[in-house]
Amino acid sequence: MIRDRTLQARDKLLGKLPVTGELLRGTLLERVVRHKSGCPKCARGEGHQVYVLTVSYGGGRVRQFSVRRERVAEVRRWLANYQELKEAIEAICELNHDLLRPEKAAAKGGRKKRD
Ligand SMILES: [Zn+2]
Repeated sequence: MIRDRTLQARDKLLGKLPVTGELLRGTLLERVVRHKSGCPKCARGEGHQVYVLTVSYGGGRVRQFSVRRERVAEVRRWLANYQELKEAIEAICELNHDLLRPEKAAAKGGRKKRD
């Protein structure tokens, strides 16, 4: 039955949810800061690599946080956790649309091929 399969698929997604508080929303940007004078590193054209986490909110509001180099790997992991969680939530919501449909309509509107 389609409903059972949907529930099964939903349980499978639930089991894969990264259950962690280590979540971050946003984008990690790499920027190079160059001093105009008095810095040997910048004089050699190297510049300084800095990392900025940008987080956008509704209404076009954006917050920026500078991220220390030693925390970049951690931040990337937290961002990945968030993406994974978000994708799973979206997929579960899509499955729940199927569960909202009346049984008959679900059977009629289902895929042609059944295994
Ligand atoms: Zn410099």
